[in-house]
Amino acid sequence: MKYISTRGKVNKIGFIDTVLMGLATDGGLLVPEKIPQISKDKLDAMSNLSYQELAYEIISYYVDGEIPENELKELIKKSYETFRTPEVTPVVKLKENMYVLELFHGPTFAFKDVALQFLGNLYSYIAKKTGETINILGATSGDTGASAIEGVRGKEGIRICILHPHGKVSKVQELQMTTVDDESVLNLAIKGTFDDGQRIIKEIFADLDFKAQYHLRAINSINFARILAQTVYYFYAYFQVAKEKDIKSLNFSVPTGNFGDIFAGYLAKRMGLPVGKLIVATNENNILERFIKDGVYQPGEFHSTYSPSMDIQVASNFERYLYYLLKEDPSATSALMDQFKSEGKMTVTVEQLLRVQADFAAEGVQGEECLKTISQYHKETQYLLDPHTACGIAAYETCNEQDQVCVTLSTAHPAKFNEAIQLCDIEQTYPEQIQALFDKPQYLEVVEASNEDIRHQLEKHFRSTSSVEK
Ligand SMILES: *Cc1c(COP(=O)(O)O)cnc(C)c1O
Repeated sequence: MKYISTRGKVNKIGFIDTVLMGLATDGGLLVPEKIPQISKDKLDAMSNLSYQELAYEIISYYVDGEIPENELKELIKKSYETFRTPEVTPVVKLKENMYVLELFHGPTFAFKDVALQFLGNLYSYIAKKTGETINILGATSGDTGASAIEGVRGKEGIRICILHPHGKVSKVQELQMTTVDDESVLNLAIKGTFDDGQRIIKEIFADLDFKAQYHLRAINSINFARILAQTVYYFYAYFQVAKEKDIKSLNFSVPTGNFGDIFAGYLAKRMGLPVGKLIVATNENNILERFIKDGVYQPGEFHSTYSPSMDIQVASNFERYLYYLLKEDPSATSALMDQFKSEGKMTVTVEQLLRVQADFAAEGVQGEECLKTISQYHKETQYLLDPHTACGIAAYETCNEQDQVCVTLSTAHPAKFNEAIQLCDIEQTYPEQIQALFDKPQYLEVVEASNEDIRHQLEKHFRSTSSVEK
């Protein structure tokens, strides 16, 4: 298995180099040269595997022998034994034909742990095997930060710097990131939005000299390993639902920001999993909803919402999907991305839009509707949705065809977003791990959302590592 860039200007590389490269050196995103195909028989054979066994099967297609079998199995085992339930991502039935896939049983109570526990261990494995220096740089809308820090803290030879939008994350998200007392961790609170942070780190990663000098590695979903780890639970959910219902295909409703999670679902579909519609649930930051309805991709005005992890305008992984929509043509992908850069928008043809709509539906859920959904489900089913999951459920209600079975991805535990839960007049008790955060001191630097200021911080934080280079 080799990997190539969506923009076609990177020589083919293997899996580990793909993880280390993160953002492709030509500014594009790395994708597998060919998507592995899983036959119906093979799917049947996988349907009773444990989460870890299934993860091994799926991930093996992409690692393709670069990590020996026993070491990859150990890496996967280690990544999921930090979860609070043996099923890792249990499926819960809420109503007839309607299920929730709980992705929040990892250390930081959001779905990011599923991929970042794996990626943290993968980086640690690579550091040990190859002696590579691993300095991680990431931007977060709230959940990736804590999850990435949790994934790498205490691991030898790894340092990390996370940018989060100052004052635009929930209280618990902020505490989870900033209460880690460890000199390998640097939290930068930038005076701006997540989009500013993501743009700045992409600029820094595109400066190949700087990236090489400081050994910068990516943990955002620009890193293909994250997408890969997330495809596993689409398969897992399908097999769980198929055990109790006769289904020909399954829809998924996915609370979406950077298009990483839902792209993993698209990849699972392309691998042969019988996925029907992928429902893109957004909040008022609805660039993806507008694209799927009208075929025009153009950022709108930024809104702070009850679901801050989805407060994103420019979705990084959209380029991966665009590449497949354009029939894996890197010149066409580059041309559209260039157009987007120069004109601030891009438009697809009517024929392309029809293909988009064959795979995806979309709904931008407004704040009031999000809160109403939380209240209503709490009353009717006693199930407490977090505000992101509530957007997923509300989008399901609008978009799902009546007799289709649908799984909504539950991307976070409600305790992370008590700001919204309180507005519904619901009182929740925090899990003890979250309650304990409120007594700890915080470590963070507030900085301007400027490329130069952030480089300066990185030089300071990562310098000590480069000076001990062999
Ligand atoms: C990150 C996140 C999302 C959005 O996922 P993407 O992969 O960026 O589309 C949704 N909900 C929660 C709780 C998140 O942390």
